[in-house]
Amino acid sequence: MSVRRLPGVAVAVAIVVALLGACGQGGTEGRTEGGKLAVVASFYPLQFATEQVGGGHIAVTTLTKPGAEPHDVELNPRQVAQVADAGLAVHLKGFQPAVDSAVAQEAKGRSFDVSSVIELLPYTGGESEDGSKDPHVWLDPARFATIAGTLGERLAQADPAHAADYRERAKSLRNQLQDLDRAYAESLTTCARRELVTSHQAFNYLAHRYGLTQIGITGVSPEAEPSPRKLAKVAAQARATGTTTIFFETLVSPKVAETIAREVGARTAVLDPLEGLTDENADYFTVMRANLAALTTALGCTS
Ligand SMILES: [Zn+2]
Repeated sequence: MSVRRLPGVAVAVAIVVALLGACGQGGTEGRTEGGKLAVVASFYPLQFATEQVGGGHIAVTTLTKPGAEPHDVELNPRQVAQVADAGLAVHLKGFQPAVDSAVAQEAKGRSFDVSSVIELLPYTGGESEDGSKDPHVWLDPARFATIAGTLGERLAQADPAHAADYRERAKSLRNQLQDLDRAYAESLTTCARRELVTSHQAFNYLAHRYGLTQIGITGVSPEAEPSPRKLAKVAAQARATGTTTIFFETLVSPKVAETIAREVGARTAVLDPLEGLTDENADYFTVMRANLAALTTALGCTS
């Protein structure tokens, strides 16, 4: 009986060995060949925070290509394998469904859902007021600071040998984010207008934090085409509030913003939701400071 079962056992062992060989990348579990902690981050702001906190002890792979629109990202088999091999997967549940399902299936117990440590807001100021949660949390520096702090703890758990360093770096990132938060609060205290008209409805957290009102044109998904009725409504709101600037974002065509701007005699300007970097010399902080400059000009703020 045992002799008869042997070939089956041999096949099973061969399969297991083959699977390990395919996933292991030559390193120990969750590590690169060079012994660094392998971390996957689902899109740019999480990549930035992870790199800042991890420093030289980790190797970060991003699941959204630079310059790509992250909302509808699809993962190829290689990326799913990267999630499975990672020592930690950092994602934002509800933002990228393909990433959420890969993490749920492949990275059990080795993931950090950044939305789990902050208060989420429902979508407001546009078409999708169905009670679903708005994922654009990184545009509030105060919430992002909370995420940075917890990220330090999660990296410390995944790689205890460098725990002190992760905590130190997380503290430094948190301080920088709190400085940015203060700069926003001070610059946006006294403004002629407080309405923020934007093609992509991504700035709810920013508006909420600094007492602005977001008027969204295309809704949640930046590539959705607004109806003529919606365009007319936003144009009327823009006129009524004396809006001088219609904002559009860098990863999507400015056509819709230009249409409304023409209609109400306003100009257009970039307000970057930081879902992906278009300039490789930029980072989270340079883009957020450029956004602040664009806002203070558009809203007529004096400080
Ligand atoms: Zn978005």
